[in-house]
Amino acid sequence: MLKYDLMIHPEKELSAIQHTLKTVFGFESFRPNQESIIRSILCRRDVFAVMPTGGGKSLCYQLPAILMNGTAVVISPLISLMKDQVDAAMANGIPSAFMNSSMDAAEVSDVYRRLTYNKIRLLYIAPERFAMPHFIDKLKSASISFFAIDEAHCVSEWGHDFRPDYLGLSLIPQIFPDVPVAAFTATATRQVQEDIISRIGLRTPYVVRASFNRANLYYEVRAKSRVENQILEFLGTHRGESGIIYRTTRDAVMETANFLRSRDIIALPYHAGLPAEDRSRNQEAFNKDEAQVIVATIAFGMGIDKSNVRFVIHADLPRNIEGYYQETGRAGRDGEPAHCLLFFGRGDIPKVRYFINAMTDERERHIANEKLRQTVGFASHNVCRRKQLLGFFGEEYPDDNCGGCDICSGSVEQVDITTDAQILMSAISRTGQRFGMGYIVDIVTGTDTSRIRKLGHHEIKTYGAGKDRDKKYWWSVGDELLAQGVLIQEGNPYPVLNITAKGTGILFGTEKITALKKEEKKTKPGRRHADAEHYDELLFEKLRALRKRIAEVQQVPPYIIFSDKTLHEICRQFPSTLSAMREIGGVGDAKLERYGEDFVMETLLYLAENPHISVPKSFAEAAADRNDEARPATGTQRKKKGETVEETYALLKGGMSLDDIAKLRGLTPSTVVSHVEHLLREGRDFDLDQVVAPAKRQKIEEFFLSAREYGLNPAVEHFNGTISYEEARITRAWLQSKNPV
Ligand code: ADP
Ligand code: MG
Ligand code: ZN
Repeated sequence: MLKYDLMIHPEKELSAIQHTLKTVFGFESFRPNQESIIRSILCRRDVFAVMPTGGGKSLCYQLPAILMNGTAVVISPLISLMKDQVDAAMANGIPSAFMNSSMDAAEVSDVYRRLTYNKIRLLYIAPERFAMPHFIDKLKSASISFFAIDEAHCVSEWGHDFRPDYLGLSLIPQIFPDVPVAAFTATATRQVQEDIISRIGLRTPYVVRASFNRANLYYEVRAKSRVENQILEFLGTHRGESGIIYRTTRDAVMETANFLRSRDIIALPYHAGLPAEDRSRNQEAFNKDEAQVIVATIAFGMGIDKSNVRFVIHADLPRNIEGYYQETGRAGRDGEPAHCLLFFGRGDIPKVRYFINAMTDERERHIANEKLRQTVGFASHNVCRRKQLLGFFGEEYPDDNCGGCDICSGSVEQVDITTDAQILMSAISRTGQRFGMGYIVDIVTGTDTSRIRKLGHHEIKTYGAGKDRDKKYWWSVGDELLAQGVLIQEGNPYPVLNITAKGTGILFGTEKITALKKEEKKTKPGRRHADAEHYDELLFEKLRALRKRIAEVQQVPPYIIFSDKTLHEICRQFPSTLSAMREIGGVGDAKLERYGEDFVMETLLYLAENPHISVPKSFAEAAADRNDEARPATGTQRKKKGETVEETYALLKGGMSLDDIAKLRGLTPSTVVSHVEHLLREGRDFDLDQVVAPAKRQKIEEFFLSAREYGLNPAVEHFNGTISYEEARITRAWLQSKNPV
């Protein structure tokens, strides 16, 4: 089990950090910046870290909390988030607790008691606690290792989630001058960054600004036509995967959710106009994988820590790039491939303009227009989407081909516009790079204006060279050249076009340039990100179902049991022993002990049913070497394990109770129940009455049928604990075996 009294000696430090990473979290290596942040906290230095969503911020404070003496206090803005975070920490065996306004006095005093006795490594609290003198007194008398402020941008009025309560956090460095403070956020703008540091009063913090590149996200833009059908088509290639669909208006949210439900997709709506209970119920259902899809306005945002969101669809034009980045950022937190799809139609532009024109403040209107221009540019330019997004945050993406967007993967049709680019640039060059786009387009199209005549530009060679195309076309070529960095525009209020070095190459014919074909073709469906690794999808379905069953029993979201990434790895490596399971990323000691057996068993059953599958050799051998019993992970062993169900079956047939079978065979009751489920699914014949009494079974069956869902918790709650989870589980399996889906 875990050792919390590890002393940090400089020479042992490395091994202590690495050891904890492996045994508690089950990870082999750190993500970028995690290690240096952890070291700073361990050295008791303040930290300010900007890391993208999914960058792994939680681990940066959870790991030092384990190694340091005392309790780490984590300030987190949302109650729902807090509970999930505590569940996740507990699942890794870290003693944790939260304190917020949803708790009664007895619960609060219980937490205080544990705090005083130094029984909590991680205490999550809401910021408003810092306005309570009593709470501060309690903290002062406890031993606090450090403070971590999550979602720290909430302290800034410049940010999008300002929360006045966060301002009270500036008390922390004043009241606890010797305790380090680490602040974390995913908000990228520099203005917010400066604001956070000064408002909290961090003391020469170690500052980290991570790259905003989310390598596992695939970005794609498709031309929008009948968007609900397009969504349906997309879902058809992403069966069973969790995803978010963003729409601009509440009406559109309701319509799309209803439409999808009418097509048998479990989709729930979320917008600020729904009653609070509905919103949290829908969010909860999504979190727990009970609803596949949530259709939402941008009100759905912070507070989703769900790591297995596999796609984010924008069915309407996003308001601005920053928002688009944050919204798509909710996909693929677990680091596994995820798809960000934007349906772009020019018809959306007037709708946005309408709102902008209604703004009374001229400056605001100007900014909104600029943002609209950027978003339209993102969707319509022939430039790597990733490059554009990162460029927006002032980060230069170094590679020519990112391999993770529709442009770079060549799924968008391109046309060569080199000749037209040369015509436009030749006009710019021959007029001395002193004019704006309008004037140049006039020259190229051979327009007769007095200004052109006065300056003698009707006599240059390119005058009228492009008169077979209209002005609109030449404007679009100009926009394209600006977007691709071939031209730059300088000067205010009369911007003048200049040719860059890249442009010179094109002008002199040493380089070519292409643009998106205007009538966009439908892109090839289902193309996955370049480094998406193959995994066994059938096994994944089984493991996912197992994960959901366990999550229901434990009343936590499924991704807290194991992430999609962990399940994918199991579906590549097929661990057949507990020690092989331990090598899988995300499987630490606590999870191995709690869930290892169930997942190994499910994998073995699957292998037994599919003998043609070959287990990666090196992995199997390595696992066998490490296995105490030194059993070879070969076909014979698999068969032997497959036979373990048969043993249960034989004992059942012999009239033994499940408890006795578990005891006799040294298995957990849950494993034996999983055998029974398996036997039922196989349609095997045995006396079920002996496992669940007929009267009880009938009661449970009626409940399931009337509730029209098979949630185990609701069933157990409904009968006030007079039936067990195991009984509900078995009855459910029996029902499902009678009515296969
Ligand atoms: P953030 O708060 O920065 O958005 P999280 O802390 O929620 O990100 O982490 C996102 C996911 O990444 C979680 O599923 C977490 O378990 C996983 N993760 C964190 N650190 C590592 C690591 N070093 N190796 C593998 N997975 C990691
Ligand atoms: Mg987080
Ligand atoms: Zn790209």
